Amino acid sequence: MRVLLLGGTGEARALADLLAGDAGLEVTTSFAGRTPRPHLPAGRVRSGGFGGADGLAQWLREHRTGAVVDATHPFAARISAHAARAARTAGVPLLALRRPGWTAQPGDRWHWAADAAEAAALLPALGRRPFLTTGAGELAAFAALPLRFLARTLTPPPPPLPARCHLVTARGPFTLDTERALLREHRIDVLVTKDSGGPAPKLTAAREAAVPVLLLRRPPPPPGVPTATTPAAAAHWLRTR
Ligand code: NAP
Repeated sequence: MRVLLLGGTGEARALADLLAGDAGLEVTTSFAGRTPRPHLPAGRVRSGGFGGADGLAQWLREHRTGAVVDATHPFAARISAHAARAARTAGVPLLALRRPGWTAQPGDRWHWAADAAEAAALLPALGRRPFLTTGAGELAAFAALPLRFLARTLTPPPPPLPARCHLVTARGPFTLDTERALLREHRIDVLVTKDSGGPAPKLTAAREAAVPVLLLRRPPPPPGVPTATTPAAAAHWLRTR
């Protein structure tokens, strides 16, 4: 069976690696193609958009795909909506692979925003020296704020940026020591992040330093799509198709 794995996350790579030895499955991982030098998974790889839901449905038919796993980032809402529509149109079973969001622990001082615009509205009441880890695409929402920002992104962000912004481009994973040092050196007094889930030493460092955290809520997933939370569970779903 041919499987299309919509990737761009560590979970997608882990699933492709898990399935590498399955003789009955031919897995193609798809990347959006915007990250330079992505860590490549086992199996076949393709890169670039499909041209919307219709383009994806056509791709599924042309490649006689037997199943799709949407293992994109929980905030990549457009491709997930396209995957749901395309899988329905092409009559191909679809599973979403989503790591769970984070849960607050004792000592956490968390605040929630629906999106980057709401986070920007709430931010001045929470601190003067924010650490932004919301991704390059979200920095523009904070551009008008007269705060002293530290922003960490994977790729250089498009303008506009806040007038006072120290930019660090880096790829994780990061260690607790790195995160502690960043908070200390830049005298960070509020952390802004997406509720991405997964290991997050930045949340531990913020808790230790009593720094409040402003979290962007996940967009709702497309309705009616079954979900697995681990690569092993997604592998089981595929093997029992
Ligand atoms: P998005 O807004 O949901 O999707 C924008 C467009 O990019 C889609 O319509 C699709 O183009 C193309 N696309 C996205 N993921 C694709 C994939 N895996 N394979 C082929 N085409 C894909 O996505 P995004 O938020 O920009 O994220 C882009 C990629 O980065 C995703 O693969 C995601 O897993 C990864 N990522 C995103 C975030 C985040 O915070 N959003 C964080 C870490 C990693 P067409 O309509 O032309 O098919």
